[in-house]
Amino acid sequence: MPGQVLQGIGVSPGVAFGPAVIVRLDVPDVPNRFITDEEVDAELTRLGLAVNGVVEMLGTLRDRVRERAGREESHIFDAQIMMVQDPDFLRAVEQCVRDGMSAETAYEFKALELRNTWSASGNAMLRDRLADLSAIHNRMLHRLLGRTEEELWSLPSGSEVVIVAHELSPGLTVQLDRDRVVGLISEEGTRTSHAAILAHSLGIPAVMGAVGAMDRIRQGTQLLLDGQTGTVLLDPSRADIERARAQLSRRQKLELELEATVTQAAITPDGVQLSVMGNVDLPDEIAPAARNDAQGVGLLRTEFLVTGRAALPTEDEQASYFRRVSDAFPNHPVVIRSFDLGGDKFPAAFRAPAEANPFLGWRSIRVCLDHPEIFRPQLRAVLRAAADRPIQLMLPLVTGVEEVIASRELLLEEALNLAREGVRAAASVPVGVMIETPAAALLADQFARHSAFFSVGTNDLVQYTLAVDRGNARLADRFSTHHPAVVRLLRHILTEGNRAGIPVSVCGEMASDPLSVILLIGLGYRTLSVGPPAIPLVKWVIRTVPVSVAERAAAAALTAERPAEVTRALREVVQDLVDPRVFESLAALPRMTASATLPS
Ligand code: PEP
Ligand code: MG
Repeated sequence: MPGQVLQGIGVSPGVAFGPAVIVRLDVPDVPNRFITDEEVDAELTRLGLAVNGVVEMLGTLRDRVRERAGREESHIFDAQIMMVQDPDFLRAVEQCVRDGMSAETAYEFKALELRNTWSASGNAMLRDRLADLSAIHNRMLHRLLGRTEEELWSLPSGSEVVIVAHELSPGLTVQLDRDRVVGLISEEGTRTSHAAILAHSLGIPAVMGAVGAMDRIRQGTQLLLDGQTGTVLLDPSRADIERARAQLSRRQKLELELEATVTQAAITPDGVQLSVMGNVDLPDEIAPAARNDAQGVGLLRTEFLVTGRAALPTEDEQASYFRRVSDAFPNHPVVIRSFDLGGDKFPAAFRAPAEANPFLGWRSIRVCLDHPEIFRPQLRAVLRAAADRPIQLMLPLVTGVEEVIASRELLLEEALNLAREGVRAAASVPVGVMIETPAAALLADQFARHSAFFSVGTNDLVQYTLAVDRGNARLADRFSTHHPAVVRLLRHILTEGNRAGIPVSVCGEMASDPLSVILLIGLGYRTLSVGPPAIPLVKWVIRTVPVSVAERAAAAALTAERPAEVTRALREVVQDLVDPRVFESLAALPRMTASATLPS
């Protein structure tokens, strides 16, 4: 049926058009085969050889990713290598072989058991890593069945294609020929899936969480996908393609305008100066943030130093990373966020407990305070890097001032230790907090007495205020930064911060959404910290919308009863300033990597 629409989550921006290639990398059909006692040794050897072969293959993929997407992304494969060598899992498989199963029958049996445990765990991080788990299990099974990697799937020769799969593993994503594969669609996965992160790094437009894609899309179906809005059109009409092309050319024109803002000041038309800083999650983002003239780093995430590694980073390693970041932004502050660990964000050797509700569990500042041997080296690294650099420390996920007091005590102790040891370090650094729980927002007056600054983490603040899992594709519509409860909390936080005379900024994703930027300006926020590619867009909005106009919209938002009313109020104010279609394009631009292949 022409003109059908599938709605998923846009995870890697850009528009793409092309025929579908369905990739079925499901668990291979493994025949049940039983063995005699005499065959056990040979089967165990086969199992060992298969593990070695897969480890070697993953090592090759890791090197390829390092070349194509960067060193940080390649750690995904280090984590997979560890998974495939997991001694507990392999011991269980070996036991099944000793009990009379063939290597592949035993492996499939235990793999299904593990997969079911992960799926049923309710642990969002484990669910997110299911694609990695299936990928390595499938590789192992194919190898045990004597099939090579190349036989698993292939692209038809000729035109550019859109890959459609139930689940995309990072391994598959990185093997794709960028010149031929113009888009990706999968039924499973969210923005934080490894395959999504890789697709983004490789610049391939992608939509995930497109439920029903495998049923509704046939081999060769023409697809038009928008990797920002998450919309997939099946067999688009000429008019659809025309519209997409027009939208694309508006986006491209806007991109040129946005690029021009890089050298311009973040001043509103009525002369109010704002500051746009950068969020840096990975070292690869330091240079783009500096290129886009970020006024320092408002959020330096430090988890990458841990994720997928075998051990925690040393104090020296952290200190030199912090210095490197700071040196890229001379005379501007760098706000280092202490480890926001939890879920799967632990070094592999760390035996973290499995939890039913990890987002409400043992994470972030709670882990740091419970494990000073993790926290103290980080605090020392911050102090050392701050010896001659404008570095600040930020504590995530606080819910009570006692956490700030305890952290500051540890910081002070380490400052004294460093002084006694004769190590060059700052005597103290400004310590601020992320306001990302309703508790912290409501107690903003108390936190302000113990903190040098606030930075609002809207990703978690919205999640916890609205009780909406930020990674759940089914709830994506309900995750609204325009919800009246969120708007009121945002106002309250700023009022209390201003009353205490401390700086208040926003570092959650909300600060890179054009309409939400207007809301934040209207509420009185003057410092925003956003992902490096979004900086020009945010500046463009600042330079286009006068504060007086944004204030009118914010006033309406504060009395609204529904998120849709807030959105409407914001749209209304821009209507007179900008062609609404331009704004719609802007909303689709935060990452500015639009790469499009539309038929002419
Ligand atoms: C947030 O919660 O808004 C935030 C910036 O932190 P993270 O996304 O790393 O949880
Ligand atoms: Mg957060």
